Amino acid sequence: MDKKNHYHQDMLSVEEARKKILGNFTRLSVESTPILKCLGMTLAKDIISPINVPPLNNSAMDGYAIISLDTKNKILTNLLELEVIGTVAAGEISDKTIQSGQALRIMTGAPIPSGSDAVVPFEKTDEQKRKLRGSSDRKISIMAKVDSGENIRFKGEDIFAGATVLHKNKIIRPADIGVAASIGLTHLPVIRRPVIAIFSTGNELVEPGNKLNEGKIYNSNAFTIASMVSSYGGLPKIIDTAEDSFQSVNEALSMAMIDADMVVTSAGVSKGDYDVVKDVLEKKGEISLWSVRMRPAKPLAFGVLNSPEGKKIPHLGLPGNPVSAMVAFIQFGRQAIGIMMGRIPLPNPKLTAILDDPITNFDGRRVYARVYVYKSDGGDYRARITGSQSSGVLTSMAVANGLGICPEDIDRINIGEKIQVEMIDWPEEIF
Ligand code: AMP
Ligand code: MG
Repeated sequence: MDKKNHYHQDMLSVEEARKKILGNFTRLSVESTPILKCLGMTLAKDIISPINVPPLNNSAMDGYAIISLDTKNKILTNLLELEVIGTVAAGEISDKTIQSGQALRIMTGAPIPSGSDAVVPFEKTDEQKRKLRGSSDRKISIMAKVDSGENIRFKGEDIFAGATVLHKNKIIRPADIGVAASIGLTHLPVIRRPVIAIFSTGNELVEPGNKLNEGKIYNSNAFTIASMVSSYGGLPKIIDTAEDSFQSVNEALSMAMIDADMVVTSAGVSKGDYDVVKDVLEKKGEISLWSVRMRPAKPLAFGVLNSPEGKKIPHLGLPGNPVSAMVAFIQFGRQAIGIMMGRIPLPNPKLTAILDDPITNFDGRRVYARVYVYKSDGGDYRARITGSQSSGVLTSMAVANGLGICPEDIDRINIGEKIQVEMIDWPEEIF
């Protein structure tokens, strides 16, 4: 391909760019993972229970295990006095067999003793009264009729041995982790989390914690990107920041490619200063530099790197401006991570809100305005601009919980008009 052509600056729509990018990602391999680490991961196989849950019939209440027929036979007096032959706690098994006229004190979860077919809760006995009286006879009066099976949780009531309890492709939530534990599993087969190598480029960058000399700024992109990676379920791996030199970027990229499923770089993709990053990337694989019809985050690089081990590693080159980097990663990185994790890549959740401030679009790009969505007293969703929309102003991004969209072909959305908002966050205030 002609080199010039290779680097031509296409104006792509967000959807076109996303399609080109996401086509390079596939679901990753399956890994047996400790259940506590599985939250948000995709289950790779059906899970069949090896046991009944509960394993035995057991008491649903603290009370007395009895024979239900004993309460039926006492219709006239409605006061039935039984002999207490022992106590059983959860985790124990009683060796006693209940005969007519007998009861066994039983705690919630304890297996039902043989002979018994119902449990009477403490409240329906005179246990409290007897205690107050200080009586020490081994007797209890039952003040209610019970049916057979009452207050008993039956063996296999929750899960039968051999039943499929968790289905393949399910995204693991807390209850699923509980179900896995309840059938005795320590690990689940899940699609592993992608390792996302991240590095920033720029001579001006200093890492937080170090002295800020004149002309320098602190590196924030590595931290926002890594945090987004974590929140989307991936494993961020921050590589040392590269200087704007071939050698430095080359070293960082070599480091980044070790074990990574995706490489994300920040800066060096806008017109004028991308040459170093571009030259290095070109040597390690393919790269395209795009202009995406969006604001912020117009310049974007995407390519596929060839690792020394022969692996193809997708690379996303984000713009350097802190908000641009975030908005581009929200638009293109989130779903890439989702696909690698075995999920269907759903779009960002959207809602419609009424604008408190106008949004202007002066060059035909799709504007993603930083907005704060809240619920008005009338119950409508409203969106207000969070501050300066400069792509370098990260604090207005920090206040925002959504990106208000002004479409490519609309010049202005006025106060009081409706706007679609892609939510980045669902704060309590909006419910
Ligand atoms: P560039 O894409 O290199 O032209 O950078 C655009 C703007 O983003 C410049 O003002 C940079 O100083 C700033 N920038 C680049 N990288 C970072 C970073 N890692 N953290 C914060 N700001 C950055
Ligand atoms: Mg730069």
